[in-house]
Amino acid sequence: MAELKFDTRKIRAGYEPSDNNQAVSPPIYQTASYDFRDTQHAQNLFTYKEAGYLYTRVGNPTVTYFAERVKALDGAKNVVAVGSGMAAISYTLLNLAAKGGTILASPYVYGGTIDAFDRLFPELGVNIKITDAVLDPEKLEAELTDDVKAVYVESISNPNAYLLDIDAISEVAHKHGVPVVVDNTLATPYLYRPFEHGADIVVYSATKSLTGHGNIIAGLILDNGDMSLYTKERYPQFFEPIVMLGGKSPADIFPDNYFIFRATLVYLNLLGAALSPQDAYLGIIGLETLSERVAKQTKNAEKLVKYLENSPAVEWVRHPSAENYKFKALAEKHLPNGGGGVLSFGIKGTAEQEAEFLNNIKLFHYHVNLGDARSLIVDSPNTTHSELNDEEFVLADIPKNLIRISAGLEDAEDLIADLEQAFKAAGLL
Ligand SMILES: *Cc1c(COP(=O)(O)O)cnc(C)c1O
Repeated sequence: MAELKFDTRKIRAGYEPSDNNQAVSPPIYQTASYDFRDTQHAQNLFTYKEAGYLYTRVGNPTVTYFAERVKALDGAKNVVAVGSGMAAISYTLLNLAAKGGTILASPYVYGGTIDAFDRLFPELGVNIKITDAVLDPEKLEAELTDDVKAVYVESISNPNAYLLDIDAISEVAHKHGVPVVVDNTLATPYLYRPFEHGADIVVYSATKSLTGHGNIIAGLILDNGDMSLYTKERYPQFFEPIVMLGGKSPADIFPDNYFIFRATLVYLNLLGAALSPQDAYLGIIGLETLSERVAKQTKNAEKLVKYLENSPAVEWVRHPSAENYKFKALAEKHLPNGGGGVLSFGIKGTAEQEAEFLNNIKLFHYHVNLGDARSLIVDSPNTTHSELNDEEFVLADIPKNLIRISAGLEDAEDLIADLEQAFKAAGLL
């Protein structure tokens, strides 16, 4: 069969009914462990001579179906699903900087990621350098010193909708033997597929638009199967023998998949943030409507942008569809399906009026999630990004009056009416 197109893959990839008593909807394998047939089978599984399931912390069929489906959507070669987006990010960066070193990171990233950069990684001996050089590949090149283990960016950033040129970033990073890790959570593979732009590793919070119903916490790590960047000099961790593997190294066992294999064997196995089969099942159901949801969210966001741009209560609006969007040319080239459901705006009023506005919102949910079927609103500087220090706020270009919206699937007219009445209640109109 010819390679299936995106929307067919999101319904069909990674699961065959004939493997499961012809069940159309993937079964939830609600089991902690799996019987060995005999002692030889046990030994084969433990030494990776045979593929199979051992224990749900490191593998479960329902979790595999979910992971394989996202892999097919992104055009990845290898994948592992984990218990949250933060686990995906932490495991990925620890796997690359297992022996220490520096991660060059974009300032335009999720608040929890910045928090991990400030508090978790230094404690584990990993140096994080947050740099706006990701906006300028020439400047970035000067920072790619021998101790750099990865460049870390978000494709479309949270909450500012910064859009980075991943083709250009990958080109300079690869020249210096460094892989590029992309958090593609906001974009989802429907809007943007980082591997087609040179990325080596993609991470997701599948909690967000990817699964889209605000009912699970989940994450994924994917790679492009190109192991040629991982030299023995810079990444010895992949080439060191492990007792449990009979003295073999991750690279010996899976020459085309040792990045994800080591992430599973060391971090998923030993730090243990496993995805539950129930949640993986909900993720699979969510994926079935990925394109339809993100397309409608994008349309709703565009209508909200138009309304906000014309409102006297608003100082500025940021979204790829906004009049004065900073990355217009890049968006036209890289986001043919639109800019997604997340937008932000600056409220034109005092902190008290901003609070009054939020306290009068009736339809939008006031909380920290995004990508939900429901529309969400939040004052990011005081909540999702409250971990940032003053310097990081400036570097990340997050003004204190920023309000983030994640457009849902409602009728845009109802959403606009809700904003209008809340602006009025706050005395802004
Ligand atoms: C939410 C989010 C994360 C963290 O994901 P969790 O599933 O909440 O752990 C990481 N990156 C981005 C861009 C996010 O929005």
